[in-house]
Amino acid sequence: MLKLDQVTVRYGATVGIDRLSIEVREGELVTLIGANGAGKSTTLRAISGLEPLAHGQIHFDGHRISGAPPAQIIDRGIAHCPEGRRVFPQLTVRENLEMGAYRRSDRQRARQDMERMFDKFPRLRERSGQAAGTLSGGEQQMLAIARALMSRPRLVMFDEPSLGLAPNFVEMIFELILEVRRSGTTVLMVEQNAYAALEMCDRAYLLEGGHVVTTGTSREMLANPDIRKAYLGG
Ligand code: ATP
Repeated sequence: MLKLDQVTVRYGATVGIDRLSIEVREGELVTLIGANGAGKSTTLRAISGLEPLAHGQIHFDGHRISGAPPAQIIDRGIAHCPEGRRVFPQLTVRENLEMGAYRRSDRQRARQDMERMFDKFPRLRERSGQAAGTLSGGEQQMLAIARALMSRPRLVMFDEPSLGLAPNFVEMIFELILEVRRSGTTVLMVEQNAYAALEMCDRAYLLEGGHVVTTGTSREMLANPDIRKAYLGG
C-alpha cells in the first residue's frame, strides 16, 4: 500500500533520513522505533509531503506521491496526526474537527462523521464549543486523533501519540489506535514507548541514524536480544 524506496531527507548539512526503505501493507499496524533523532518524525513528514526528498521515491497504492503537495496526499487517503498534538488552540473542538474534513466535498457525510466522533469521544462532545487550547493534554491528543480520522483516511500516521500523557490516557489512546486498525484503517505509528509499540504492532522497523537497522514482526522484535538490551531495558 505504502512504499518508501531509498528515501533521503536532508536539513542543510544534517541528514534526517538516509536511503530509507520501508513498506506498509493494507490493514497492517506498523511501528517505527528508535532513539531521539533516528529519523522517525522525518519519515512521517516526508510521506505527508512536508519535507522535500533529496533522493528516492514514495508510492501509495501504486501512485507516486513524492513531490506531490500535502493537500493532494491527504486526498489520496493519508492522514497525519503530528507530534505534540498540534490542535488549533484558538478554535473550538468542533472547528478543529471541521478542519480535519476541509478537503472533503461530501459535507453531509462529514457532518455525520463528526457526530460519530462525538459518540466515540463523549468528552469532546461535552467540550465541543470550548477552545481546544483549554483541553487537557490527553483530551487534545484525543482531538488530534479524531481530527485525523475526519478525513476518512485509508492510512493514518501517528507521531508519538502517548508523549506526555498520564498513564490512564496512554492506555486509552493505544486502545483507540487498535480500534482504528480493527475498523480496517492501516496505521503507521512512531512511538517512544518501544515496548507498548512492539506489543501492539504487526511489524516494526528499528531506525538508527536515519537508516533501518532491524525489521521484523512484533514477536521477532520483542525477542531480539539487541532490541531488548537497548530499547526494552533488558
Ligand atoms: P525525535 O523522537 O527526537 O523526534 P526522530 O527519530 O523523530 O526523533 P527526527 O525528528 O526525524 O528524529 O530527526 C532526524 C534528524 O534530523 C535529527 O538529527 C534531527 O536533529 C534532524 N532534524 C529534524 N528536523 C529538523 C529541522 N527542522 N531542522 C534541522 N534538523 C532537523
